[in-house]
Amino acid sequence: MITAGLYIHIPFCVKKCAYCNFYSVAYSPEFAQQYISELIKEISSYAKEKKIAVDTIYLGGGTPAILSLDLLERLIKTVYRTFDCQVKEFTIEVNPCSAQDIKHYKSLGINRISMGVQSLDDKILKMLGRRHDKSQALTALENANKYFDNVSADFIIGVSGKRDLEKELNSICDFVKHVSGYILKLEKGTELYQKYLNKSFILPDDDQTADQYHLMYECLRSKGFERYEISNFAKEGYQSEHNLKYWRMKEYIGAGVSAHSYFGGKRYYNEDSLAKYLQGRHKGNNAQINEPLDALFETIMLGLRVAEGINIDKINRLFRIDFEKKYEKVLRRIKPYMDINSEGNIRIKDEYMLLQNSIVLEFMN
Ligand code: SF4
Repeated sequence: MITAGLYIHIPFCVKKCAYCNFYSVAYSPEFAQQYISELIKEISSYAKEKKIAVDTIYLGGGTPAILSLDLLERLIKTVYRTFDCQVKEFTIEVNPCSAQDIKHYKSLGINRISMGVQSLDDKILKMLGRRHDKSQALTALENANKYFDNVSADFIIGVSGKRDLEKELNSICDFVKHVSGYILKLEKGTELYQKYLNKSFILPDDDQTADQYHLMYECLRSKGFERYEISNFAKEGYQSEHNLKYWRMKEYIGAGVSAHSYFGGKRYYNEDSLAKYLQGRHKGNNAQINEPLDALFETIMLGLRVAEGINIDKINRLFRIDFEKKYEKVLRRIKPYMDINSEGNIRIKDEYMLLQNSIVLEFMN
């Protein structure tokens, strides 16, 4: 039996945030009904394959918490009927403005809440075009923490130089065991990108953003959080099992519009179109196959994101290569930035983690 993680994409949002380029559409109860019916068809199509065990489930979006409890229950029952579920971690993403049902999620088997906090500074939240303010975020976090042991918060840095990051993080840390701290990436086509072009939004410079990253790192470390991936910090035992699958190249099934999968040794995805999805264009009968990537490069790229790094013996076995010989020159060039431990794990030194992109590019040449 194959064991995989399951990602389910719920594409609805009340309003588009200014920085967001995830696939999402305006919420309507009618669309949500139709969408869940189609999602159920897609998920059920896996029943035709050899029995699949699912050990992590992640309901992401969009705003999954926008769905009614009835719809969520229909969806989750399908998952349990289709797969052999031995679920260790079941996450739902929640927005502070759509957090009204948190206390009911446990009865659906959910055991982890990922809260889209992003900031506790009202000015920053406004710049990001979020619908919530600081007080709503704190109430939602408090409520999540009341009903769940495993709560994570998403946090964005690199938005503005004028910000008391430490104060914000200290308040968040009272309620969570995991923080995903991302650097804002300006994506073309977003409202924020447009504002950046006409100079009504000014990004902090690279040095300021790097300082914010190091401040976040130190602040979270002082609160007992370990960085286990460039942007992810957790108290002991609270690393995200589901997200680790992506970085460790483990198999996962993605269901829903725009969802990507790595399953049965293949990568495939559903198109970014709700209309096409509702017409039945999805894994059930019409998934798009990704161009085969260089699997070795991808393993190195993803592996160097995580604190444990990559294991040389494992790579040698998997790809039938002599890693140290193949990359002799690269390893010589990047040596000052890397650690190799006695078990043959090669990883980026803590202080150079932000250079991950440039270090990885060395393996391309
Ligand atoms: S709530 Fe999340 S998915 Fe929806 S627009 Fe905002 S950032 Fe994007």
